[in-house]
Amino acid sequence: MPDVEPNPKFSASDSVVFLATHPRSAAMAVPAAVVREKPVEPAPPPPPAPSAYVAADAASYRHLETAAYYRALDAARSAPAGERIATMARSVHALADEVWASVRADAEPAGQRSEIACGAGCAACCHQLVTVAPVEAAAIALFVAQRFTPEQRKDVAERISTLDAATRGKTAIERTRLRLPCAFLEGGRCSIYEARPLRCRAVHSRDAGHCGWALVNPDAATQDRAARADSGPFLVAPAKIMDAALTGLARACRSTAIDGESLELTAAVRIALAVPDLEDNLKNGDPVFAAAALPTPAPPEPAS
Ligand code: SF4
Repeated sequence: MPDVEPNPKFSASDSVVFLATHPRSAAMAVPAAVVREKPVEPAPPPPPAPSAYVAADAASYRHLETAAYYRALDAARSAPAGERIATMARSVHALADEVWASVRADAEPAGQRSEIACGAGCAACCHQLVTVAPVEAAAIALFVAQRFTPEQRKDVAERISTLDAATRGKTAIERTRLRLPCAFLEGGRCSIYEARPLRCRAVHSRDAGHCGWALVNPDAATQDRAARADSGPFLVAPAKIMDAALTGLARACRSTAIDGESLELTAAVRIALAVPDLEDNLKNGDPVFAAAALPTPAPPEPAS
């Protein structure tokens, strides 16, 4: 998801139109005659050349996971009451960002152009189901409370409510088919960028054309991902870094008796914004986030 300051001249809908009319997308359009005979979805763009971003060994990720675990516990101890669980998430976000920045600096020597395509106004990946840890939802709610104006809070609450009504209970593919932007996307940029979940921090693409293609062809994109032996245009290193950080954060949560199960972002933040004593509720083991649980995918159709 975009980690470069997006261009405010673009709006989310502009980016969708831009991506949908990307030359690669046009080249992949299925001729009408073919569609009439057999509904075939277009093929994805060819993947880019091998990446300079080399994933580390398993021991390094385990080390990061442990560091995230202790960082979260330390942060919880030193934060003021009411901000402890949010601070756990913030501290792990900072650690993961630090590690990713260092890996990126190694992969991109000074003066070398980045191979990462994510950039201004490109928010194709912000139209899908995003998972979030409960403490991350709490961190986003705190960010909104501390940084947004009353007007912004009202606007985002309305967008969250509308999106939640449209997406609650939808599986990942059903959510993607809706092509609805994340409630936090404003003018093509993430309005909670500093507090965005680790899952959003994980996504880095080397091919914006592929992301645009996936946005308008969700079923073909799902099949493409399932059929691939590699990660396609998506970088493995940041995904593994954020995964390790998330695992460490979840372990820290469990060791302090806080639920660490992943939730659906929109519903989770809606709840976090509405529950006044979230921290106490979570520490008491109250199932405050039960309604934001991830949907169970539908079982496969029986073969006929
Ligand atoms: S929180 Fe929403 S807008 Fe922000 S990066 Fe994630 S999906 Fe995109």
